[in-house]
Amino acid sequence: MKDIIERFISYTKINTMSYDDAGKCPSSDNEFILARQLEEELKGMNLENVHVDDNCFVYATLPANTDKKCSTVGFLAHMDTSNSASGENVKARIIEDYDGKDIELSEGIYTTVKDYPDIAKLKGKSIIVTDGTTLLGADDKAGIAIIMDALQKLVAHPEIKHGTIRVCFTPDEETGSGIHNINKEDFDCDFAYTVDGGEVSEVTYENFNAASAVVNFQGNSIHPGDAKGKMINALQLAMDFHGQLPVFARPEHTEGREGFNHLVSLQGEVEKATAVYIIRNHDAELLEKQKKQFEIIADYMNKMYGREVVKLNIRNTYRNMKEMFADKMYIIDVVSDTLSELGITPSYSPIRGGTDGAQLTYMGIPTPNLGTGGMFYHGNHELVCIDDMKTMSEVVFNLIQNIEKRGL
Ligand SMILES: [Zn+2]
Repeated sequence: MKDIIERFISYTKINTMSYDDAGKCPSSDNEFILARQLEEELKGMNLENVHVDDNCFVYATLPANTDKKCSTVGFLAHMDTSNSASGENVKARIIEDYDGKDIELSEGIYTTVKDYPDIAKLKGKSIIVTDGTTLLGADDKAGIAIIMDALQKLVAHPEIKHGTIRVCFTPDEETGSGIHNINKEDFDCDFAYTVDGGEVSEVTYENFNAASAVVNFQGNSIHPGDAKGKMINALQLAMDFHGQLPVFARPEHTEGREGFNHLVSLQGEVEKATAVYIIRNHDAELLEKQKKQFEIIADYMNKMYGREVVKLNIRNTYRNMKEMFADKMYIIDVVSDTLSELGITPSYSPIRGGTDGAQLTYMGIPTPNLGTGGMFYHGNHELVCIDDMKTMSEVVFNLIQNIEKRGL
């Protein structure tokens, strides 16, 4: 049997950074390398219908071995890693029995207790870190390793009863553009779980409502010596626009259920400039209000200049999945009970982002998110707790059994 750590480390060695606006799925051909490796591992476990499709989705099915009527349940994790930090040449390093102090990742690069106070919780546990020059990829290769490990245990114990289990490892989660390409015939489930969160106690079925705004500014360029009364500087328009959005609603000033407007990019010159924002709120009505503010500011500026200097294009991107669980709370309750049986108190904090699961939920497969034991995603200080990964494998393994026992 393959060890969960061995599996995880082998996945981190493949650079699977995904890229926005690649215009194709997968956004990088490297994702296929990991997909093929996972396909081999799943075939090695004798699962059924194991294959990688043209869009780099890896599918597998473990057939039911129970006579009980029971839902078909899916588990998903994503293969790609964020492009906010390098995923090339990741050097995963195990620290056993971590002492709870600052971690020297490599010479002169530290994960300090001061900057990352959460590491104190890991004292006495074993963790996997990077050399501080790349991300680790626990987001979400830890999720893949957890699902693989749980499957391996089920396959090794055919006496344990379970319904039909489907697995899907997905590309391009970080770009938000992969999941639309999932083949629902290959991943035909009543409900599913993504294993893509942080702490083991996490059970998430609430995420942001999301929109994006592309704001185009039309200036009027003229020699600065002759500019009086004539020049309209598009860069100035962009700064004026941004200056009218509430400062308190920037991501760096918000937490919990507070929404934000985030300026993602700003490019331009005197003649033209473009600002891209993402707009987020857990509350759909409040999100609409934020969108309205963008419109009010654009209208105001256009009126002030007497011409269309600001052109706004707002698009909804994803929705909070919470409302979809109103009559399906058993999907959440069975996880909560599984965690409690292992002595873990479940926590239900809303995700300050989106998940593939949220999108899947709106595609008809309710999909909450579970933890992995990873921390500090999308950066060079990313790490994963080995003990927590093992616990999560146990959670998935027990969850599958509880679903069968309850005949859900
Ligand atoms: Zn992730």
